[in-house]
Amino acid sequence: MEISQQFIAQLQALLPHEWEALAAAITTTPPAVSIRLNTAKGAHEARTTGLEPVPWCPAGRYLAGREPFTFDTAFQTGLYYVQDASSMFIAHVIGSLVDGPVRYLDLCAAPGGKTTAAIQALPPGSTVVANEVMPQRARVLCENVTKWGSPRCFVTSNPASDFKQLRHYFDVVAVDAPCSGEGMMRKEAEAVAQWSPALVRQCAALQRSIVDDAWHALKPGGLLIYSTCTYNSEENEQVVQHLIDTCQATTVEVPVEAGWKVHPGIGTSAHCYRFMPHLTRGEGLFMAVLRKPEGKARPPKMKAVKARGRAAWPRGTEHWLDCAGDYSLAMRGDTIVAIPHDLESCAALLHGALHVLHEGITLGTVKGKNCVPSHALALSTALNPEAFARCEVDYATAMAYMRGETVVVDAPRGYVLLTHHGSPIGFANNLGSRANNLYPKPWRILSTHIPAQEPAVVTAGSCVHGEG
Ligand code: SAM
Repeated sequence: MEISQQFIAQLQALLPHEWEALAAAITTTPPAVSIRLNTAKGAHEARTTGLEPVPWCPAGRYLAGREPFTFDTAFQTGLYYVQDASSMFIAHVIGSLVDGPVRYLDLCAAPGGKTTAAIQALPPGSTVVANEVMPQRARVLCENVTKWGSPRCFVTSNPASDFKQLRHYFDVVAVDAPCSGEGMMRKEAEAVAQWSPALVRQCAALQRSIVDDAWHALKPGGLLIYSTCTYNSEENEQVVQHLIDTCQATTVEVPVEAGWKVHPGIGTSAHCYRFMPHLTRGEGLFMAVLRKPEGKARPPKMKAVKARGRAAWPRGTEHWLDCAGDYSLAMRGDTIVAIPHDLESCAALLHGALHVLHEGITLGTVKGKNCVPSHALALSTALNPEAFARCEVDYATAMAYMRGETVVVDAPRGYVLLTHHGSPIGFANNLGSRANNLYPKPWRILSTHIPAQEPAVVTAGSCVHGEG
């Protein structure tokens, strides 16, 4: 890999005593491969030997190498997320600094690595709004959030400036900003090819504008978690300094163990945390937590939008959920969504201000007098597994199903929840001689090269879903 001399010169200026070690780590050592287990789905390691834990994230595990994740039903159903170990630091930050239920905004969220880590790390009863401005990336975010299965998450697709309308609404706002990607150079050739000093300047200007917008949405006394995957100070410490200078922000200390070898901020006394591959096993990451000064909160005065559409749905649909009494059902077009009661006003507010792509649990689509159960329900931690006939399928059938093929299932006629290793993989409508495949078309596995041996990184144990 040929990295530019201008980039090397920047590293030399940034880290006069360490730049050679960092440059060697970037150019000569392979990236670590790591996953985060979805403990809300009872996920645990399949390997008897055990995988090495990520020191700052209890659900994180290093793998010996890349697995064929696409062909792993556990991956496709959200039992784990493939995530760089450094990025899992967000879980430690949240675990250390957030001690009660909060409203959490992830402003730059796709593809959803830090969102799913936040869902896992936040105290029970918290609400997550994950936003991504780019429409195509927002669809991927929706897919990953749906697979993760939390009923307390919304996905929106808006520019950061739209969140100024939600003044003082969030207790915590995460800005994992678009950046020059220096920390990804080891993993992505594109990060090397696209780098230039002009890109660094352009990103730094964009980051300041995004954090300024985010600041409006943050409650007085609330926390802004700022992160990038780049090394230079312009996009890191200087953006933190911008918030200190212009918004009276103060940085918050995060407890870190010496053995983790987290590098402090450079050229600043502010609390900043840098992960660098010559010191830590993971890619480049910068993170800082800023507190907004205390003051009087003036939450948004906005017209909440009531759900439109029919108020009745096919009888019994609500029993598709565990603890059905905890949810309100609403129609969005011909789709029924279930929203935890305490999030109804949040849902109405978001619909009034933003483009909402996902909310709570999508239960299904109304077709005449019936409701076709949605794939999101199959993957939700709130699914009532007793509500449907179940059929355990082998690996070959599970792969055929995820490729969108017609499958034959040994089950009663009607909607059947297919499981593999006891964990839901989706619904099929059993017509007897064959079953209609209800796996979402855009999610289908396109490759025909299914491995002969099933990848075995993670299993869900014997339960269908369970808290872990
Ligand atoms: N947090 C994500 C995760 O952990 O999976 C990664 C986020 S990535 C570093 C930054 C995201 O910001 C990208 O998805 C990008 O599309 C989005 N983005 C790009 N331009 C933006 C803008 N002007 N305002 C807000 N977000 C933007």
